[in-house]
Amino acid sequence: MVGAGFAGVECVRRLERTLSPGEADVTLVTPFAYQLYLPLLPQVASGVLTPQSIAVSLRRSKKYRTRIIPGGAVGVDLKAKVCVIRTITDRIVDESYDYIVLAPGSITRTFDIPGLTDHAFGMKTLAEAAYVRDHVITQLDLADASDDAAERAARLQFVVVGGGYAGTETAACLQRLTHAAVKRYPRLDPALIKWHLIDIAPRLMPELGDKLGRAAQEDLRRRGIEISLGVSIAKAGPEEVTFTDGRVVPTHTLIWTAGVVASPLIATLGADTVRGRLAVTDEMCLPGYDGVFALGDAAAVPDLAKGDGAVCPPTAQHAMRQGRRVAENVVAALRGGPMRRYEHKDLGLVVDLGGADAVAKPLGVELHGVPAQAVARGYHLGALRTNVAKVRVATNWLLNAVAGDDFVRTGFQARKPAKLKDFEYTDAYMTAQQVQEYVEKARPRAL
Ligand SMILES: Cc1cc2nc3c(=O)[nH]c(=O)nc-3n(C[C@H](O)[C@H](O)[C@H](O)COP(=O)(O)OP(=O)(O)OC[C@H]3O[C@@H](n4cnc5c(N)ncnc54)[C@H](O)[C@@H]3O)c2cc1C
Repeated sequence: MVGAGFAGVECVRRLERTLSPGEADVTLVTPFAYQLYLPLLPQVASGVLTPQSIAVSLRRSKKYRTRIIPGGAVGVDLKAKVCVIRTITDRIVDESYDYIVLAPGSITRTFDIPGLTDHAFGMKTLAEAAYVRDHVITQLDLADASDDAAERAARLQFVVVGGGYAGTETAACLQRLTHAAVKRYPRLDPALIKWHLIDIAPRLMPELGDKLGRAAQEDLRRRGIEISLGVSIAKAGPEEVTFTDGRVVPTHTLIWTAGVVASPLIATLGADTVRGRLAVTDEMCLPGYDGVFALGDAAAVPDLAKGDGAVCPPTAQHAMRQGRRVAENVVAALRGGPMRRYEHKDLGLVVDLGGADAVAKPLGVELHGVPAQAVARGYHLGALRTNVAKVRVATNWLLNAVAGDDFVRTGFQARKPAKLKDFEYTDAYMTAQQVQEYVEKARPRAL
């Protein structure tokens, strides 16, 4: 199994439960010792939740018997059935397999915009969320200490690109943080704090529909977030960002959440892809290769509930369910039974905008405000994998509701490179040819 995200962990747990120890060995390749509950990442960035509360342990139970290799797959020789791994100590090792399940997820999608990867922050890893929090509080501290009006104005403007749920929740949660924080900085004029949320699309979160999308937009505008639609970034620099409509915004904070693309591992395989995601069958098998399954954000799994050649959107909801179905199909392949197709009808969407602001569309029912917030939080508590994670998150929410936010700048990451290009390790992979050469050298075939 490659990847311990929503898809990978669900699959591994089901395999452990279904297969007897004598029947198969399960090995999981993962750079981190936790499954990250990504939908709550914006709340880590805003400090409502501690980082640990959404990093769900892979070793919580004694029943978990999967062998974990700490590292990342950097290539797979699909013909020789060998996975090549770079461990967290940078050693290259290899593992042969009978069946491989590829669930390495996705990375932030970037474009060829001057300065983007050098100056933007992402919102896709735990380190990024923790860093962004420190960075935003740093801007308040520095603006407070400065007597230069231009510097103050630049440090107190923040730009988030991406009007999907990740970007909208990030802008909403962080705006709440700065709004609450400014009361503790008596030298700062609250009117100088400005959040921009921009997207090239004509609407925020189109999957919500017109009415709810408008309600979310009104909530954000009421709180002072300036929303610009049909607009993107033309250029990014260390102290200013230029929008495509010509506006130049002085800022030290650009957060880029404009979509995701499949993990770079997928492109190294030399197999067919659909917009970068591995093209798989309805059973999530890779056609033409024996014993290869792929799912989650990294794979283009046909969306049979929608039909018309649609593929499942990259959501946790699909990834978890695909994980279960792939485990059943691996067991079927192992025991010589029939495999089953993946089909799931979308259950809807929850969007937590912080405080009592939220929108949700469970099973098509449109909710706004407190009822939506209750559904959103109930959904997340249900979806977190372990009881200890549920209790941690619930306790953090309670503590935040009673005691409010705090604004501690830890400084752990000060002076460390921390932009998009530094966090997502996109250059760690081997090419298909390098993988083949490595495997031939490491495992010479018998003549
Ligand atoms: C901020 C944010 C908010 C979101 N909110 C929602 C939401 O509200 N609802 C929803 O349904 N979805 C939401 N999503 C999307 C959802 O999180 C993803 O669709 C889901 O995580 C996909 O699951 P996955 O298992 O494919 O990938 P992931 O959960 O990303 O897991 C992939 C795992 O593979 C590991 N990995 C990467 N490369 C390698 C490698 N080479 N070798 C080994 N391991 C590797 C990664 O470290 C990671 O642990 C959100 C995403 C973000 C970023």
